[in-house]
Amino acid sequence: MLSVIIPAYNEKLNIEHSYQRISDILSSQNIDFEIIYIDDGSTDGTWTQISSISGADSTIHGVRFSRNFGKEAAIFAGLEKAEGECVAVIDCDLQHPPEKLVDMFRLWEAGFEVIEGVKSDRGNESLIHGAFAKLFYKIINTASDIDMERASDFKLLDRKAVNVLLNMKEKNAFFRALSSWVGFSTTSVEFEVEERISGESKWSSWALMKYAVNNITSFSSAPMQIVTFLGVIMLIISVVLGMNSLIQKINGTALGGFTTVIIIELFVGSIIMISLGVIGIYISKIYEEVKARPRFIITDEL
Ligand code: UDP
Ligand code: MG
Repeated sequence: MLSVIIPAYNEKLNIEHSYQRISDILSSQNIDFEIIYIDDGSTDGTWTQISSISGADSTIHGVRFSRNFGKEAAIFAGLEKAEGECVAVIDCDLQHPPEKLVDMFRLWEAGFEVIEGVKSDRGNESLIHGAFAKLFYKIINTASDIDMERASDFKLLDRKAVNVLLNMKEKNAFFRALSSWVGFSTTSVEFEVEERISGESKWSSWALMKYAVNNITSFSSAPMQIVTFLGVIMLIISVVLGMNSLIQKINGTALGGFTTVIIIELFVGSIIMISLGVIGIYISKIYEEVKARPRFIITDEL
């Protein structure tokens, strides 16, 4: 059986539609499936929609969070609830074409264990959004050695890979990268990002920025190492400037060097602040993990 996980946050208008499209396509291909909608603390009528289709069709399950926990949490809740031998994750707005689920499923039948949906283009993104996304992917590509630029959350995973993900203790998991990190026999299916069928993207620029920092720091400690690197550079600069000042002192041409003092002061100050900030991010991460709070809280299940 194929379990299809659909995270939904304020997607009232897309529930019915996605259900129809996905179940039509899968049943026409004689694929045995279940669909699990995760209502990520929606405040519109998303849960009512899910309950009504789940009441009419026993292949539809619903899980409702007590508040918005984010898409990653929703995906993990879905992985936990899924009972299929393989599990797919797809967006509720059908920006991931559901026809590709069939291709993915066939590849799984052919023996592949991780089938990644890869974007052939990035769809319509605003200029700033696109530039930020580029920068984010550049950092995470180099930091994690995984090509993330065209990666998406649209994937199909074998039970083996799902169990590995479920057994991970880290709370701040980054699904998109972890699914390739686990290894197994992997292949990919290209898809074109479609227009959102209705509603708007749930990501503000601020949310995206938080998401980027969160995921880069949970996948790599490179930013923390940069701090050391900056420190070394500063040391070299200080030695050079220090010698320079000494020579000036000896030559009796000291004083008048206030510009240098100010520049050094500012430079050192800002590097220390940035460094403390970076260290702070990691410490808060450790703090989050140590608290070991659940990734999500479920209030209702269908
Ligand atoms: N989503 C979610 N929780 C959130 C934000 C988004 O479950 O906090 C879901 C959303 O309902 C959709 C998918 O994640 O099914 C992708 O979200 P969206 O379309 O807003 O992102 P984009 O396609 O713009 O990257
Ligand atoms: Mg979308």
